[in-house]
Parts: sequence; C-alpha cells; structure tokens
Amino acid sequence: MENRKPTFKVFIAKGENAYSTTRDVLKRIDLDIEKLKNKRILLKPNSGRLVSERLGINTNPDVVAAVIDFFLESGIKDLAIGESPILGVKALEALEKCGIARVATERKIPLIDLDNHGSLIVKIPHKKIIDHLKICQKIKEFDFIVSIPVMKTHMHTQVSLGLKNMKGCLFKREKVKLHQLPFSRTIPPPAKPLDMAIADMSKVLMPDLTVIDGSIGQEGLGPSAGQARFVGLIIASRHCLAADWIASRLMGLNPRSIHHLQLAIKETGQDINDDTLLPEPKDFLKWKVIFKRPPEKISLQFKNVIVEDKDACSACLSSTLMFLQRYYKDFADYLTPQFPLRMAVGKGIGKQTEDTLLIGNCTIKQKDKGIFIKGCPPVASQIKLGLDKLIKKKSDL
Ligand code: SF4
Repeated sequence: MENRKPTFKVFIAKGENAYSTTRDVLKRIDLDIEKLKNKRILLKPNSGRLVSERLGINTNPDVVAAVIDFFLESGIKDLAIGESPILGVKALEALEKCGIARVATERKIPLIDLDNHGSLIVKIPHKKIIDHLKICQKIKEFDFIVSIPVMKTHMHTQVSLGLKNMKGCLFKREKVKLHQLPFSRTIPPPAKPLDMAIADMSKVLMPDLTVIDGSIGQEGLGPSAGQARFVGLIIASRHCLAADWIASRLMGLNPRSIHHLQLAIKETGQDINDDTLLPEPKDFLKWKVIFKRPPEKISLQFKNVIVEDKDACSACLSSTLMFLQRYYKDFADYLTPQFPLRMAVGKGIGKQTEDTLLIGNCTIKQKDKGIFIKGCPPVASQIKLGLDKLIKKKSDL
C-alpha cells in the first residue's frame, strides 16, 4: 500500500476588506457543515485587553462578524463568543470597547465572561512541565471551538497566534502560572518554561478551527505595546498548528525557531512541516511581510533605563512599556549612565536597590527596598505616581 504523508490544509486570502477576505477564506474551508448543525460552537477571539478596535491588539470585529455570518448562513445557530482576559480587565468591557460586542449584539450572539462560570481542573496527559491546568468550566459546554487570534509578534513567545490565543480559556490567574514556572531539564534550550507550558496546554486546549486575523497585525513589542501594521491577510485551517506555521512564515519568521510551536507539534504528535502542509494558494509567500521582531530587552529601547524582568507576565510588562512610551520624554534628560531609572517586574527578580520602581504585586517582598507600585497589573499612571514619589524621595535627601 502507498505510504501517504499526512496533509494539513491551510487557506489564505489577502484583501483590503477584512469582512470579505474572511468570508473568502471560510467558503474554501473543509468543514463538515452537516455534522456541525446540532453542535454548540464557541468563538474565542483575542479580546483580552481594554482597547479600541483596529489597533492590532484585539481581534478586528469585522473578522468576528464574518465568522459569525459564515456559521449562521450555513444553518449553524448555536454560537457564543467567550473570553477570559488578562488580569485587571473585565471580559465584557473589553468585548464592548473593541467592537466585538457590537457585531455580536447585531446578530443576537451571546457574550460570555468565561471567568464568571467556575473552573475545572484538567490533567495534562504525558506532561512535560505542568501536571494540570485550571480551565474555564464553561468551555466544556461547547462541542467546537474557533480560535480567532490577531497576527502578532510577542515579547515572550516570538509570535501570538491560534494556539497562544487559547491561553484565554485558562481560568483567571491560571494564565500567570505559565509565566512563573521554574526551569526544567525536560525543556530543550533555548526554549523557556513558558514555551513548554503552552505545548502542554495544547494537549487539552486545541481549537477545532483557527481563523488568524492578519487584517491589522501587530509587530515589535507585542502583544500590546508594539505597532499596528496593516497586512490584509486572513489564514484559516482546521489544524491550529498548521495555521500558526503558515502565519509565521508569512510574518517572515522561521516556524522551526518558534519554540512553543515546535514543542506543541512534538507533544501532540502532529507531523507538521513544509512537506506535509497544503497551503492554498501554494504561492502564498508572495504575500509575505517582514514583521519587526520584539527587542530582547525593554531597556534597549530607552536610554539609561534598566528593566529587570524575571517571571513577569505580559500584563505587567505592557504597563511598564506603556509608562515608558507615555512619560519617558518627560524625564529622559535627567537620566545618565551613573543615575539610570531602575525598574523591576516579576516574581523572580533579584535583590533591588532603594531607587528601584517595583512594578506589581509580585514584587511586594522587596517593598522596603524601593518604591513599590501596587496592582496586578498596575496601570501606567500608577507607575508615574511611583516615579513622582521616587523623585521626591531623592530631592529630600
Ligand atoms: S503583579 Fe504583574 S507579573 Fe505579577 S501576576 Fe500580576 S500582572 Fe503578572
């Protein structure tokens, strides 16, 4: 018998109009619509931040509208949209602000705050770094999950795409746990514990369909402090890791160097590589755009600022960045290599000096050493108040 290689179909389209480009991709997707007609379907956009639409941070509402209309017109009515956002954000407020609530309400699709319906512990089969995960119980009521991420680079995981978006199905603070894992020998360097944790997560939270929103992506310091970039691409596949592979290539990245993706492919036993993928169109790389990579360290962008980041989640790092982007110009002239601004973020930071801004509740143990800024995460304006305190403390000396 002929030994056939597995094939993973991925559909790609490019266009100025996000709604019609998404519809174009979805009409080609290989779904068994008849089987889905009596199923419950959960749409999981990337909508975990309280930001306006079309910034390349939360999923474009036009893409979500196109996915909803595709299912409704196919006769599939039992749809809902769910999210468990980053710490400090309420799901329904975030969905409202980014325009997804508007398109859902127009179509009578319910919105679910996934954190409001309890949690469930799921054991990770053949775990590598985490034994179990606390997931949002509500997602178990659904038969079919659609991950609708934004095409982004990410400061911790190189990219944030279909698989990474499923972290928004972890219950409340469980998302933080993945950022604070100790090093383990099971992780092949240079991958980090977070990469392996996402690969472990992929064994229990793999979406059934992935629709990557590259209408407006985000490059540089993603997931929220980078720059929006109009790309006009939509990528869809029943195989999430295959969609993430193709999206990475379209972003000018080598999927073999995306550690969480490689580990997830290995852990789930899927033979995904350039030989087993079936992209449509085959010449999809004609649409490649080179996304700016995130810098290795936040400090590199801001002269005379030193940021120590150890085991911080992206919520606190985003606040730190927003603070620097908003206020740096106001105090940059006062900084020198001898007197830099020191900031520390995350649970694992080392011993600090008394002129350090300690960002977020995870740094509380060192609160006697520097200026502690409460919050999980604190917002940029709270960090600014901390800086004002530091300036006053120094001028009183
Ligand atoms: S304080 Fe910051 S780093 Fe710590 S858990 Fe909260 S958001 Fe994450």
